Amino acid sequence: MKSGGGASQEPPKTQERTEYAVQCAECFKWRLIPTKEEFEDIRSRFIEDPWLCSKKPDVSCEDPADIEYGNKKLWAIDKPNLPKPPVGYERILVLRKDFSKFDAYYITPTGKRVRAPSGIEKFLEENPKYKGVTISDFNFAVPKIMEDTIPKDVDGKNSANSSKRMTPSINDDDDDDD
Ligand SMILES: [Zn+2]
Repeated sequence: MKSGGGASQEPPKTQERTEYAVQCAECFKWRLIPTKEEFEDIRSRFIEDPWLCSKKPDVSCEDPADIEYGNKKLWAIDKPNLPKPPVGYERILVLRKDFSKFDAYYITPTGKRVRAPSGIEKFLEENPKYKGVTISDFNFAVPKIMEDTIPKDVDGKNSANSSKRMTPSINDDDDDDD
């Protein structure tokens, strides 16, 4: 759980290089998903509607994977079934400079940044014309950073090159640790 805080921090510059991928439930290959919106849509019903290669145009399980896990990029595994952001809202993830974790926030229809559920409640109270949306439409859960994919040369400054892949996975309970 994250505790409150309404202040905005640095701009989400690491966001530009984010790529999105999902793992096929049958062949376990990773497939790139072209847009964040499409990814959020897949993620929102990942458990009841597992993703398969055949959902991608002209792709089948026979085709080589789009990407391999690791691949010199930072990977972060998203939780499945996060709600899609309500219409008019955007959900943003910002990676901390030390790669320790992500922070999630929403941009409201008025352009306000909200970093915690309490801020959403306050916004909905103060802006009754955006009714029809409830607090359960928001989720501040952040993806788990895969430590084995953190670049070695992290110095907290020149991380503009880092990219990350957001990947829903429902079967990462059996990690072996060395
Ligand atoms: Zn497949």
